[in-house]
Amino acid sequence: MRCAILSDIHGNAVALRAVLADLATISQRHDQPVEHIWCLGDIVGYGPEPSECIALVRACCDIAIAGNHDLAATGFSLDDLSDAATASAAWTTEQLNAGELAYLSGLPWRATEDPFTLVHASPTNPIWEYLLTTRAAARNFPAFTTAYCLIGHTHIPMIFLEPDGALDAAPAATLARTGILTLDAGPTLDTDGPDPASGHQDAPGYERLLPRAGWWLPPMGRRAIINPGSVGQPRDRDPRAAYILYDSERGFNFRRVEYDIEETQRRMRTLGLPERMATRLALGT
Ligand code: ZN
Repeated sequence: MRCAILSDIHGNAVALRAVLADLATISQRHDQPVEHIWCLGDIVGYGPEPSECIALVRACCDIAIAGNHDLAATGFSLDDLSDAATASAAWTTEQLNAGELAYLSGLPWRATEDPFTLVHASPTNPIWEYLLTTRAAARNFPAFTTAYCLIGHTHIPMIFLEPDGALDAAPAATLARTGILTLDAGPTLDTDGPDPASGHQDAPGYERLLPRAGWWLPPMGRRAIINPGSVGQPRDRDPRAAYILYDSERGFNFRRVEYDIEETQRRMRTLGLPERMATRLALGT
């Protein structure tokens, strides 16, 4: 089975079309087509083409999950967003018709497609939690029963592995030597602060991996929480659109796709959207 896992499109239709074109090329090149496309939420918010993105997701994705920006555009929980996000949500709401708003408010918060659980943010808090640390991951593994949980929301490609003492002790280190993974990106990603009881930042035995582009085969028997990164507003300092191609025989292919960033920026400026939101696209921040 092959499926594409997309998240955080954020109204960037130019980036989404580039990802769909990449998938079409992959389907043509191989005998096995990409059978499913799943979207982990935040179809809209920040970007200049919310309606187009909703139309593309409705046409192409078998499953789409609600993100905080999708709900904000429908008037839900606006208080928890930053000022920029609130302004963006208000602008997005004005662009959408009643059918599009009804589609967003009807998106499920969680879906299961064995061996995957799909949520936008985290299994314990599907809309709002930024799952960035092994301590946060340790809290979240008991909240799903499938082998893998797919999340978005942070816009940073990331993998958390649950400990399993019975298996090979150092699979992640082995993968790091292949050049596909870096094991840590440093303290700027950590938002939890040290554990008040132990003083430690990390949850013992849990691993956090930061995948660059390439294939990742999960270690046998280890459950994982996996984030594909963002299609429309990457924040890992690589401005290319990010997504995952999953192949049940080969594992997870973390892909990066170039798109016409300047075109999206032009559309944002023409519409008078905040300059900071246009600038960050070229920086991947
Ligand atoms: Zn998002």
